[in-house]
Amino acid sequence: MPPILPTLRNVTRLSRERGVVRLVRFFVIFVCVVMLAANGWVLLITRDQELEQARMGNENLARAVAQQMDALFGETGHVLASLVFELDRRDLERDTLQDLQPQLVHEVAQLDHLDGLFVIDAQGRWRAHSQAQLPSDASSSDREYFREHRDSDSERIRIGAPVRGRIGQRWLVPVSRRLNDPYGRFAGVVMATVSVDRLAQMLAAYEVGDRGAILLGRRDGQVLTRWPLREQDLGASLASSSVFQRLSAAQRGTYEAASPLDGEHRLVSFQHARNLPLYVTVALSHEEIMRDWRTSAFLQTAWTLVLCLIVGATGSYVVRAVRRRSVAEHALLQTRDALELANLQLSQLASHDALTGLANRRALDARLQQAVATEPPPDEPAPALMMIDVDHFKRFNDLHGHQAGDECLIRVAAAVRAVAEAEGGLAARFGGEEMAVLLPAHPQPARVAEAVRAEVAALVLPGVGPAAPVTVSIGLATLHASRPTVTAWLGAADRALYAAKAAGRNRVVADEAGPLHDQPLPD
Ligand code: GH3
Ligand code: MG
Ligand code: MG
Repeated sequence: MPPILPTLRNVTRLSRERGVVRLVRFFVIFVCVVMLAANGWVLLITRDQELEQARMGNENLARAVAQQMDALFGETGHVLASLVFELDRRDLERDTLQDLQPQLVHEVAQLDHLDGLFVIDAQGRWRAHSQAQLPSDASSSDREYFREHRDSDSERIRIGAPVRGRIGQRWLVPVSRRLNDPYGRFAGVVMATVSVDRLAQMLAAYEVGDRGAILLGRRDGQVLTRWPLREQDLGASLASSSVFQRLSAAQRGTYEAASPLDGEHRLVSFQHARNLPLYVTVALSHEEIMRDWRTSAFLQTAWTLVLCLIVGATGSYVVRAVRRRSVAEHALLQTRDALELANLQLSQLASHDALTGLANRRALDARLQQAVATEPPPDEPAPALMMIDVDHFKRFNDLHGHQAGDECLIRVAAAVRAVAEAEGGLAARFGGEEMAVLLPAHPQPARVAEAVRAEVAALVLPGVGPAAPVTVSIGLATLHASRPTVTAWLGAADRALYAAKAAGRNRVVADEAGPLHDQPLPD
Protein backbone atom coordinates (compact mmCIF):
# COMPACT_ATOMS: atom_id res chain seq x y z
CA MET A 1 0.00 0.00 0.00
CA PRO A 2 1.42 3.39 -0.94
CA PRO A 3 2.44 5.44 2.14
CA ILE A 4 0.35 8.46 0.99
CA LEU A 5 -2.90 6.74 1.96
CA PRO A 6 -2.47 6.86 5.76
CA THR A 7 -1.80 10.61 5.51
CA LEU A 8 -4.91 11.14 3.42
CA ARG A 9 -6.88 9.04 5.84
CA ASN A 10 -5.51 11.11 8.70
CA VAL A 11 -6.62 14.34 7.04
CA THR A 12 -10.09 12.90 6.41
CA ARG A 13 -10.28 11.71 10.00
CA LEU A 14 -9.29 15.13 11.36
CA SER A 15 -11.74 17.01 9.16
CA ARG A 16 -14.55 14.59 10.03
CA GLU A 17 -13.71 14.92 13.72
CA ARG A 18 -13.63 18.73 13.40
CA GLY A 19 -17.03 18.64 11.64
CA VAL A 20 -18.62 16.59 14.44
CA VAL A 21 -17.05 18.80 17.14
CA ARG A 22 -18.28 21.95 15.35
CA LEU A 23 -21.77 20.47 15.05
CA VAL A 24 -21.89 19.53 18.73
CA ARG A 25 -20.62 22.99 19.75
CA PHE A 26 -23.20 24.69 17.53
CA PHE A 27 -25.94 22.47 18.97
CA VAL A 28 -24.93 23.22 22.59
CA ILE A 29 -24.72 26.97 21.97
CA PHE A 30 -27.99 26.97 20.04
CA VAL A 31 -29.88 25.05 22.74
CA CYS A 32 -28.46 27.28 25.51
CA VAL A 33 -29.26 30.49 23.65
CA VAL A 34 -32.79 29.29 22.91
CA MET A 35 -33.36 28.28 26.54
CA LEU A 36 -31.99 31.58 27.88
CA ALA A 37 -33.97 33.62 25.36
CA ALA A 38 -37.16 31.70 26.19
CA ASN A 39 -36.46 32.23 29.88
CA GLY A 40 -35.96 35.98 29.38
CA TRP A 41 -39.08 36.19 27.26
CA VAL A 42 -41.21 34.34 29.83
CA LEU A 43 -39.81 36.54 32.61
CA LEU A 44 -40.67 39.72 30.72
CA ILE A 45 -44.20 38.49 30.04
CA THR A 46 -44.84 37.38 33.61
CA ARG A 47 -43.37 40.67 34.88
CA ASP A 48 -45.78 42.64 32.71
CA GLN A 49 -48.68 40.42 33.84
CA GLU A 50 -47.73 40.92 37.47
CA LEU A 51 -47.61 44.70 37.02
CA GLU A 52 -50.89 44.69 35.07
CA GLN A 53 -52.65 42.73 37.79
CA ALA A 54 -51.29 45.05 40.46
CA ARG A 55 -52.37 48.06 38.40
CA MET A 56 -55.94 46.75 38.04
CA GLY A 57 -56.24 45.90 41.74
CA ASN A 58 -54.77 49.26 42.66
CA GLU A 59 -57.13 51.24 40.46
CA ASN A 60 -60.15 49.39 41.82
CA LEU A 61 -59.02 50.07 45.35
CA ALA A 62 -58.44 53.78 44.62
CA ARG A 63 -61.95 54.00 43.16
CA ALA A 64 -63.50 52.31 46.21
CA VAL A 65 -61.63 54.54 48.68
CA ALA A 66 -62.47 57.70 46.69
CA GLN A 67 -66.16 56.74 46.72
CA GLN A 68 -66.03 56.12 50.43
CA MET A 69 -64.36 59.48 51.12
CA ASP A 70 -66.75 61.25 48.76
CA ALA A 71 -69.68 59.73 50.63
CA LEU A 72 -68.16 60.48 54.02
CA PHE A 73 -67.48 64.15 53.34
CA GLY A 74 -70.76 64.43 51.41
CA GLU A 75 -72.62 63.18 54.47
CA THR A 76 -70.79 65.74 56.60
CA GLY A 77 -71.93 68.37 54.09
CA HIS A 78 -75.55 67.22 54.51
CA VAL A 79 -75.29 67.58 58.28
CA LEU A 80 -73.99 71.13 57.81
CA ALA A 81 -76.77 71.85 55.26
CA SER A 82 -79.49 70.79 57.68
CA LEU A 83 -77.88 72.90 60.42
CA VAL A 84 -77.85 75.92 58.09
CA PHE A 85 -81.53 75.26 57.34
CA GLU A 86 -82.24 75.27 61.08
CA LEU A 87 -80.25 78.44 61.71
CA ASP A 88 -81.90 80.29 58.82
CA ARG A 89 -84.99 80.54 61.00
CA ARG A 90 -83.14 82.12 63.91
CA ASP A 91 -81.53 85.47 64.65
CA LEU A 92 -77.96 84.67 65.48
CA GLU A 93 -77.45 88.08 67.04
CA ARG A 94 -80.21 87.80 69.57
CA ASP A 95 -81.29 84.20 70.10
CA THR A 96 -79.45 82.05 72.50
CA LEU A 97 -78.61 78.77 70.77
CA GLN A 98 -78.29 76.67 73.91
CA ASP A 99 -81.19 74.46 72.85
CA LEU A 100 -79.25 73.43 69.75
CA GLN A 101 -76.54 71.62 71.71
CA PRO A 102 -78.38 68.30 72.25
CA GLN A 103 -79.11 68.16 68.55
CA LEU A 104 -75.46 68.78 67.72
CA VAL A 105 -74.31 66.16 70.22
CA HIS A 106 -76.79 63.73 68.73
CA GLU A 107 -75.56 64.38 65.19
CA VAL A 108 -71.92 63.83 66.21
CA ALA A 109 -72.85 60.61 67.99
CA GLN A 110 -74.63 59.40 64.87
CA LEU A 111 -71.62 59.74 62.59
CA ASP A 112 -68.55 57.83 63.58
CA HIS A 113 -66.08 60.05 61.74
CA LEU A 114 -67.41 63.32 63.15
CA ASP A 115 -65.48 64.80 66.06
CA GLY A 116 -67.52 67.93 66.63
CA LEU A 117 -70.11 70.38 65.28
CA PHE A 118 -69.87 74.12 65.84
CA VAL A 119 -71.96 77.24 65.19
CA ILE A 120 -69.72 80.30 65.01
CA ASP A 121 -71.04 83.88 64.82
CA ALA A 122 -69.77 86.71 62.65
CA GLN A 123 -67.15 87.64 65.28
CA GLY A 124 -65.77 84.11 65.47
CA ARG A 125 -67.33 83.24 68.81
CA TRP A 126 -68.59 79.70 69.35
CA ARG A 127 -72.36 80.11 69.86
CA ALA A 128 -73.29 76.43 69.94
CA HIS A 129 -71.26 73.24 69.85
CA SER A 130 -71.28 69.52 70.52
CA GLN A 131 -68.41 69.58 73.00
CA ALA A 132 -68.75 68.69 76.66
CA GLN A 133 -66.57 71.59 77.77
CA LEU A 134 -65.09 74.60 76.06
CA PRO A 135 -62.21 76.95 76.76
CA SER A 136 -63.68 80.23 78.04
CA ASP A 137 -62.14 82.28 75.24
CA ALA A 138 -63.03 79.84 72.42
CA SER A 139 -62.93 81.74 69.17
CA SER A 140 -62.34 80.86 65.57
CA SER A 141 -61.68 84.37 64.32
CA ASP A 142 -58.02 83.48 63.72
CA ARG A 143 -58.76 80.30 61.76
CA GLU A 144 -58.23 80.24 58.03
CA TYR A 145 -61.64 78.78 57.24
CA PHE A 146 -63.33 81.60 59.21
CA ARG A 147 -61.51 84.31 57.32
CA GLU A 148 -62.16 82.65 53.97
CA HIS A 149 -65.94 82.32 54.56
CA ARG A 150 -66.11 85.90 55.88
CA ASP A 151 -64.32 87.23 52.81
CA SER A 152 -66.05 85.08 50.18
CA ASP A 153 -69.76 84.96 49.21
CA SER A 154 -69.57 81.28 48.30
CA GLU A 155 -71.96 79.03 50.21
CA ARG A 156 -70.21 75.83 49.18
CA ILE A 157 -68.69 73.41 51.60
CA ARG A 158 -65.07 74.04 52.35
CA ILE A 159 -62.76 71.24 53.41
CA GLY A 160 -59.83 72.76 55.28
CA ALA A 161 -56.27 71.63 55.89
CA PRO A 162 -55.80 69.50 59.03
CA VAL A 163 -55.43 71.54 62.19
CA ARG A 164 -54.93 70.68 65.82
CA GLY A 165 -58.20 70.99 67.73
CA ARG A 166 -58.47 73.55 70.51
CA ILE A 167 -59.74 70.83 72.82
CA GLY A 168 -57.64 67.70 73.17
CA GLN A 169 -55.10 68.79 70.58
CA ARG A 170 -56.27 66.10 68.19
CA TRP A 171 -55.70 66.47 64.45
CA LEU A 172 -58.92 67.44 62.74
CA VAL A 173 -60.09 68.26 59.26
CA PRO A 174 -62.48 71.25 59.44
CA VAL A 175 -65.46 71.01 57.06
CA SER A 176 -67.31 74.34 57.06
CA ARG A 177 -69.99 76.46 55.39
CA ARG A 178 -70.81 80.17 55.46
CA LEU A 179 -73.92 81.45 57.24
CA ASN A 180 -75.74 84.49 55.81
CA ASP A 181 -78.25 86.82 57.52
CA PRO A 182 -81.53 87.51 55.73
CA TYR A 183 -79.77 90.31 53.79
CA GLY A 184 -77.07 88.02 52.51
CA ARG A 185 -74.41 89.44 54.81
CA PHE A 186 -71.89 87.26 56.61
CA ALA A 187 -73.47 85.94 59.79
CA GLY A 188 -71.01 83.27 60.83
CA VAL A 189 -69.87 79.75 60.01
CA VAL A 190 -71.14 76.24 60.69
CA MET A 191 -68.36 73.75 61.02
CA ALA A 192 -67.90 70.00 61.46
CA THR A 193 -64.58 68.52 62.40
CA VAL A 194 -63.58 65.14 61.01
CA SER A 195 -61.07 63.14 63.01
CA VAL A 196 -57.85 62.55 61.10
CA ASP A 197 -57.18 59.46 63.22
CA ARG A 198 -60.56 58.03 62.31
CA LEU A 199 -59.93 58.68 58.63
CA ALA A 200 -56.53 57.03 58.87
CA GLN A 201 -58.13 54.00 60.55
CA MET A 202 -60.56 53.69 57.67
CA LEU A 203 -57.70 53.79 55.20
CA ALA A 204 -55.81 51.24 57.27
CA ALA A 205 -58.62 48.73 56.68
CA TYR A 206 -57.41 48.36 53.08
CA GLU A 207 -54.55 45.96 52.42
CA VAL A 208 -51.64 47.70 50.72
CA GLY A 209 -48.72 45.66 52.04
CA ASP A 210 -45.99 46.65 54.47
CA ARG A 211 -44.60 49.39 52.31
CA GLY A 212 -47.74 50.60 50.56
CA ALA A 213 -49.65 53.81 51.36
CA ILE A 214 -53.09 55.36 50.89
CA LEU A 215 -53.44 59.09 50.83
CA LEU A 216 -56.42 61.42 50.94
CA GLY A 217 -55.65 64.85 49.58
CA ARG A 218 -57.31 68.04 48.48
CA ARG A 219 -57.37 68.88 44.83
CA ASP A 220 -55.00 71.79 45.50
CA GLY A 221 -52.36 69.31 46.71
CA GLN A 222 -52.77 69.46 50.46
CA VAL A 223 -52.57 66.18 52.35
CA LEU A 224 -55.60 65.56 54.57
CA THR A 225 -54.59 62.17 55.90
CA ARG A 226 -52.57 59.14 54.97
CA TRP A 227 -51.95 55.58 55.94
CA PRO A 228 -49.44 54.92 57.44
CA LEU A 229 -50.12 58.11 59.40
CA ARG A 230 -47.14 60.45 59.81
CA GLU A 231 -47.81 63.74 61.55
CA GLN A 232 -45.32 65.64 59.43
CA ASP A 233 -47.32 64.80 56.29
CA LEU A 234 -50.59 66.32 57.54
CA GLY A 235 -51.28 69.57 55.75
CA ALA A 236 -48.15 69.17 53.60
CA SER A 237 -48.59 70.44 50.06
CA LEU A 238 -47.71 68.21 47.12
CA ALA A 239 -48.65 70.91 44.62
CA SER A 240 -45.06 71.52 43.61
CA SER A 241 -44.15 67.83 43.12
CA SER A 242 -43.84 66.52 39.58
CA VAL A 243 -46.26 63.64 40.17
CA PHE A 244 -48.97 66.07 41.21
CA GLN A 245 -49.02 67.54 37.71
CA ARG A 246 -49.92 64.10 36.32
CA LEU A 247 -52.40 63.58 39.07
CA SER A 248 -54.26 66.82 38.41
CA ALA A 249 -54.30 66.26 34.64
CA ALA A 250 -56.76 63.31 34.72
CA GLN A 251 -59.71 61.99 36.68
CA ARG A 252 -57.98 58.72 37.35
CA GLY A 253 -54.81 56.94 36.34
CA THR A 254 -51.74 54.98 37.36
CA TYR A 255 -48.08 55.83 37.31
CA GLU A 256 -44.83 54.60 38.83
CA ALA A 257 -42.77 57.07 40.81
CA ALA A 258 -40.88 57.67 44.00
CA SER A 259 -43.11 59.13 46.71
CA PRO A 260 -42.50 62.86 47.35
CA LEU A 261 -43.25 62.14 51.02
CA ASP A 262 -41.06 59.13 51.90
CA GLY A 263 -39.11 58.41 48.70
CA GLU A 264 -40.40 54.82 48.32
CA HIS A 265 -40.74 53.69 44.70
CA ARG A 266 -44.37 52.74 44.20
CA LEU A 267 -47.03 51.90 41.68
CA VAL A 268 -49.57 54.71 42.32
CA SER A 269 -53.22 54.71 41.23
CA PHE A 270 -55.18 57.92 41.79
CA GLN A 271 -58.87 58.68 41.64
CA HIS A 272 -60.58 62.03 42.08
CA ALA A 273 -63.80 62.14 44.10
CA ARG A 274 -66.88 62.64 41.97
CA ASN A 275 -68.53 65.42 43.98
CA LEU A 276 -65.87 67.03 46.14
CA PRO A 277 -62.43 68.50 45.46
CA LEU A 278 -60.70 65.47 46.93
CA TYR A 279 -58.53 62.75 45.52
CA VAL A 280 -57.24 59.42 46.77
CA THR A 281 -54.00 57.70 45.85
CA VAL A 282 -53.38 54.01 46.52
CA ALA A 283 -49.71 53.18 46.23
CA LEU A 284 -48.18 49.69 46.33
CA SER A 285 -44.47 49.29 46.84
CA HIS A 286 -42.84 48.25 43.57
CA GLU A 287 -40.50 46.10 45.56
CA GLU A 288 -43.38 44.22 47.20
CA ILE A 289 -45.33 43.79 43.96
CA MET A 290 -42.31 42.25 42.27
CA ARG A 291 -41.12 40.22 45.27
CA ASP A 292 -42.86 36.96 44.30
CA TRP A 293 -41.97 37.50 40.66
CA ARG A 294 -38.33 38.06 41.57
CA THR A 295 -38.20 34.85 43.58
CA SER A 296 -39.75 32.79 40.79
CA ALA A 297 -37.58 34.62 38.20
CA PHE A 298 -34.48 33.77 40.22
CA LEU A 299 -35.46 30.10 40.56
CA GLN A 300 -36.45 29.83 36.91
CA THR A 301 -33.21 31.47 35.72
CA ALA A 302 -31.14 29.29 38.04
CA TRP A 303 -32.88 26.19 36.69
CA THR A 304 -32.31 27.34 33.11
CA LEU A 305 -28.63 27.88 33.86
CA VAL A 306 -28.41 24.41 35.41
CA LEU A 307 -30.00 22.99 32.24
CA CYS A 308 -27.47 24.94 30.13
CA LEU A 309 -24.66 23.50 32.25
CA ILE A 310 -26.04 19.98 31.79
CA VAL A 311 -26.31 20.49 28.02
CA GLY A 312 -22.79 21.98 27.93
CA ALA A 313 -21.35 19.11 30.01
CA THR A 314 -23.10 16.55 27.77
CA GLY A 315 -21.75 18.33 24.70
CA SER A 316 -18.20 18.35 26.01
CA TYR A 317 -18.56 14.65 26.94
CA VAL A 318 -19.68 13.89 23.39
CA VAL A 319 -16.77 15.93 21.98
CA ARG A 320 -14.30 14.07 24.17
CA ALA A 321 -15.86 10.72 23.21
CA VAL A 322 -15.65 11.62 19.52
CA ARG A 323 -12.00 12.61 19.93
CA ARG A 324 -11.20 9.45 21.89
CA ARG A 325 -12.92 7.31 19.29
CA SER A 326 -11.16 9.12 16.49
CA VAL A 327 -7.76 8.64 18.15
CA ALA A 328 -8.48 4.94 18.72
CA GLU A 329 -9.67 4.59 15.14
CA HIS A 330 -6.52 6.31 13.95
CA ALA A 331 -4.32 3.99 16.02
CA LEU A 332 -6.19 0.99 14.61
CA LEU A 333 -5.77 2.24 11.06
CA GLN A 334 -2.07 2.85 11.66
CA THR A 335 -1.65 -0.66 12.99
CA ARG A 336 -3.53 -2.01 9.99
CA ASP A 337 -1.35 0.02 7.62
CA ALA A 338 1.80 -1.23 9.34
CA LEU A 339 0.53 -4.81 9.03
CA GLU A 340 -0.33 -4.35 5.37
CA LEU A 341 3.11 -2.89 4.73
CA ALA A 342 4.76 -5.77 6.56
CA ASN A 343 2.70 -8.23 4.54
CA LEU A 344 3.69 -6.45 1.36
CA GLN A 345 7.33 -6.59 2.31
CA LEU A 346 7.01 -10.25 3.26
CA SER A 347 5.39 -11.17 -0.03
CA GLN A 348 8.04 -9.10 -1.81
CA LEU A 349 10.71 -11.01 0.04
CA ALA A 350 9.01 -14.30 -0.67
CA SER A 351 8.78 -13.73 -4.40
CA HIS A 352 11.83 -11.62 -5.20
CA ASP A 353 15.52 -12.08 -5.20
CA ALA A 354 17.26 -9.97 -2.60
CA LEU A 355 20.37 -9.10 -4.61
CA THR A 356 18.97 -8.27 -8.04
CA GLY A 357 15.33 -7.45 -7.23
CA LEU A 358 14.19 -9.82 -9.99
CA ALA A 359 11.46 -12.38 -9.38
CA ASN A 360 12.96 -15.39 -7.60
CA ARG A 361 12.90 -18.98 -8.62
CA ARG A 362 9.74 -19.72 -6.68
CA ALA A 363 7.83 -16.92 -8.48
CA LEU A 364 9.18 -18.07 -11.82
CA ASP A 365 8.14 -21.65 -11.16
CA ALA A 366 4.65 -20.53 -10.31
CA ARG A 367 4.37 -18.54 -13.51
CA LEU A 368 5.78 -21.43 -15.55
CA GLN A 369 3.24 -23.78 -13.97
CA GLN A 370 0.49 -21.35 -14.78
CA ALA A 371 1.67 -21.04 -18.40
CA VAL A 372 1.82 -24.80 -18.78
CA ALA A 373 -1.61 -25.30 -17.24
CA THR A 374 -3.32 -22.67 -19.39
CA GLU A 375 -4.45 -23.62 -22.84
CA PRO A 376 -3.29 -20.74 -25.08
CA PRO A 377 -5.81 -19.40 -27.57
CA PRO A 378 -5.12 -20.85 -31.03
CA ASP A 379 -4.35 -17.49 -32.67
CA GLU A 380 -1.85 -16.44 -29.95
CA PRO A 381 1.89 -17.29 -30.01
CA ALA A 382 3.03 -19.87 -27.48
CA PRO A 383 4.88 -18.66 -24.35
CA ALA A 384 8.67 -18.62 -24.66
CA LEU A 385 11.38 -19.09 -22.03
CA MET A 386 14.94 -17.72 -22.10
CA MET A 387 17.67 -19.19 -19.96
CA ILE A 388 20.44 -16.59 -19.59
CA ASP A 389 23.92 -17.37 -18.26
CA VAL A 390 26.73 -14.84 -17.73
CA ASP A 391 29.75 -15.89 -19.72
CA HIS A 392 32.93 -16.67 -17.85
CA PHE A 393 31.59 -15.28 -14.70
CA LYS A 394 33.88 -17.32 -12.53
CA ARG A 395 36.73 -15.56 -14.25
CA PHE A 396 35.03 -12.18 -13.66
CA ASN A 397 34.82 -12.94 -9.97
CA ASP A 398 38.42 -14.02 -9.90
CA LEU A 399 39.50 -10.87 -11.70
CA HIS A 400 37.40 -8.23 -9.97
CA GLY A 401 36.40 -9.84 -6.74
CA HIS A 402 33.11 -11.17 -5.43
CA GLN A 403 31.80 -7.71 -4.51
CA ALA A 404 32.30 -6.43 -8.06
CA GLY A 405 30.73 -9.70 -9.24
CA ASP A 406 27.59 -8.84 -7.23
CA GLU A 407 27.54 -5.32 -8.70
CA CYS A 408 27.89 -6.83 -12.13
CA LEU A 409 24.97 -9.22 -11.51
CA ILE A 410 22.82 -6.29 -10.37
CA ARG A 411 23.59 -4.33 -13.56
CA VAL A 412 23.05 -7.37 -15.83
CA ALA A 413 19.75 -8.13 -14.03
CA ALA A 414 18.57 -4.53 -14.51
CA ALA A 415 19.38 -4.70 -18.24
CA VAL A 416 17.55 -8.05 -18.62
CA ARG A 417 14.55 -6.77 -16.70
CA ALA A 418 14.31 -3.54 -18.70
CA VAL A 419 14.08 -5.40 -22.00
CA ALA A 420 11.81 -8.17 -20.63
CA GLU A 421 9.29 -5.84 -19.03
CA ALA A 422 9.22 -3.59 -22.10
CA GLU A 423 8.10 -6.68 -24.05
CA GLY A 424 5.58 -7.79 -21.43
CA GLY A 425 7.82 -10.50 -20.02
CA LEU A 426 8.87 -11.55 -16.54
CA ALA A 427 12.57 -11.53 -15.60
CA ALA A 428 13.68 -13.87 -12.81
CA ARG A 429 16.94 -14.96 -11.17
CA PHE A 430 17.18 -18.66 -11.77
CA GLY A 431 20.19 -19.25 -9.53
CA GLY A 432 23.82 -18.09 -9.29
CA GLU A 433 24.61 -16.03 -12.37
CA GLU A 434 21.79 -17.60 -14.33
CA MET A 435 18.59 -15.70 -15.12
CA ALA A 436 15.40 -16.47 -17.02
CA VAL A 437 12.80 -14.48 -18.91
CA LEU A 438 9.28 -15.72 -19.51
CA LEU A 439 7.52 -14.15 -22.48
CA PRO A 440 3.83 -15.12 -22.16
CA ALA A 441 2.79 -14.59 -25.77
CA HIS A 442 5.33 -12.80 -27.88
CA PRO A 443 5.37 -13.10 -31.68
CA GLN A 444 9.17 -12.75 -31.87
CA PRO A 445 10.82 -14.13 -28.78
CA ALA A 446 14.15 -14.57 -30.61
CA ARG A 447 14.25 -10.86 -31.30
CA VAL A 448 13.65 -10.12 -27.60
CA ALA A 449 16.38 -12.58 -26.63
CA GLU A 450 18.73 -10.88 -29.01
CA ALA A 451 17.77 -7.51 -27.55
CA VAL A 452 18.59 -8.82 -24.06
CA ARG A 453 21.95 -10.09 -25.19
CA ALA A 454 22.78 -6.79 -26.94
CA GLU A 455 21.65 -4.73 -23.93
CA VAL A 456 24.00 -6.68 -21.63
CA ALA A 457 26.87 -6.54 -24.09
CA ALA A 458 26.49 -2.78 -24.23
CA LEU A 459 26.84 -2.38 -20.47
CA VAL A 460 29.77 -0.26 -19.35
CA LEU A 461 30.96 -1.54 -15.99
CA PRO A 462 33.60 0.15 -13.84
CA GLY A 463 37.02 -1.46 -14.37
CA VAL A 464 35.86 -3.51 -17.33
CA GLY A 465 37.36 -2.52 -20.67
CA PRO A 466 35.42 -2.62 -23.96
CA ALA A 467 37.84 -5.23 -25.23
CA ALA A 468 36.41 -7.83 -22.85
CA PRO A 469 32.78 -6.83 -22.08
CA VAL A 470 30.42 -8.77 -19.89
CA THR A 471 28.25 -10.93 -22.10
CA VAL A 472 25.53 -13.49 -21.73
CA SER A 473 24.59 -16.63 -23.59
CA ILE A 474 20.84 -17.27 -24.03
CA GLY A 475 18.99 -20.47 -24.71
CA LEU A 476 15.43 -19.98 -25.98
CA ALA A 477 12.60 -22.52 -25.94
CA THR A 478 8.89 -22.03 -26.64
CA LEU A 479 6.30 -24.10 -24.86
CA HIS A 480 5.51 -26.79 -27.34
CA ALA A 481 2.55 -29.10 -27.24
CA SER A 482 4.94 -32.03 -27.31
CA ARG A 483 6.50 -31.14 -23.95
CA PRO A 484 3.67 -29.96 -21.75
CA THR A 485 5.62 -29.92 -18.44
CA VAL A 486 7.74 -27.26 -16.79
CA THR A 487 10.68 -29.63 -16.45
CA ALA A 488 10.68 -30.49 -20.16
CA TRP A 489 10.38 -26.83 -21.07
CA LEU A 490 13.25 -25.84 -18.78
CA GLY A 491 15.31 -28.74 -20.12
CA ALA A 492 14.82 -27.54 -23.69
CA ALA A 493 15.85 -23.98 -22.78
CA ASP A 494 18.86 -25.26 -20.87
CA ARG A 495 20.00 -27.38 -23.74
CA ALA A 496 19.73 -24.41 -26.04
CA LEU A 497 21.83 -22.46 -23.53
CA TYR A 498 24.50 -25.12 -23.54
CA ALA A 499 24.45 -25.03 -27.29
CA ALA A 500 25.02 -21.25 -27.15
CA LYS A 501 27.96 -21.78 -24.80
CA ALA A 502 29.35 -24.42 -27.01
CA ALA A 503 28.98 -22.21 -30.04
CA GLY A 504 31.28 -19.60 -28.50
CA ARG A 505 29.07 -17.71 -25.98
CA ASN A 506 27.53 -14.20 -26.27
CA ARG A 507 24.78 -15.46 -28.50
CA VAL A 508 21.20 -16.70 -28.65
CA VAL A 509 20.37 -20.25 -29.58
CA ALA A 510 16.74 -21.29 -30.01
CA ASP A 511 15.72 -24.80 -29.21
CA GLU A 512 14.29 -26.57 -32.16
CA ALA A 513 10.80 -27.55 -31.21
CA GLY A 514 10.16 -31.16 -31.44
CA PRO A 515 9.13 -34.21 -29.44
CA LEU A 516 11.52 -34.38 -26.56
CA HIS A 517 11.49 -36.38 -23.40
CA ASP A 518 11.64 -35.02 -19.94
CA GLN A 519 15.14 -34.98 -18.73
CA PRO A 520 16.47 -33.98 -15.35
CA LEU A 521 17.97 -30.50 -15.26
CA PRO A 522 21.75 -30.28 -14.85
CA ASP A 523 22.91 -28.79 -11.52
P1 GH3 B 1 30.62 -20.22 -18.40
O1 GH3 B 1 29.27 -20.07 -17.79
O2 GH3 B 1 30.87 -19.18 -19.43
O3 GH3 B 1 30.86 -21.56 -18.91
O4 GH3 B 1 31.69 -19.93 -17.34
P2 GH3 B 1 31.48 -19.60 -15.89
O5 GH3 B 1 32.71 -19.17 -15.26
O6 GH3 B 1 30.38 -18.57 -15.79
O7 GH3 B 1 30.96 -20.91 -15.33
P3 GH3 B 1 30.45 -21.40 -13.92
O8 GH3 B 1 28.99 -21.65 -13.99
O9 GH3 B 1 31.30 -22.61 -13.59
O10 GH3 B 1 30.77 -20.34 -12.88
C1 GH3 B 1 29.78 -19.62 -12.26
C2 GH3 B 1 30.36 -18.75 -11.24
O11 GH3 B 1 29.49 -17.75 -10.85
C3 GH3 B 1 30.73 -19.52 -10.04
C4 GH3 B 1 30.42 -18.60 -8.90
O12 GH3 B 1 31.58 -18.17 -8.21
C5 GH3 B 1 29.81 -17.39 -9.57
N1 GH3 B 1 28.65 -16.97 -8.90
C6 GH3 B 1 27.49 -17.64 -8.79
N2 GH3 B 1 26.60 -16.90 -8.06
C7 GH3 B 1 27.25 -15.74 -7.71
C8 GH3 B 1 26.91 -14.56 -6.95
O13 GH3 B 1 25.79 -14.45 -6.46
N3 GH3 B 1 27.82 -13.61 -6.86
C9 GH3 B 1 29.08 -13.68 -7.38
N4 GH3 B 1 29.92 -12.66 -7.26
N5 GH3 B 1 29.42 -14.75 -8.07
C10 GH3 B 1 28.55 -15.79 -8.24
MG1 MG C 1 26.54 -20.91 -14.90
MG1 MG D 1 28.39 -18.66 -16.57
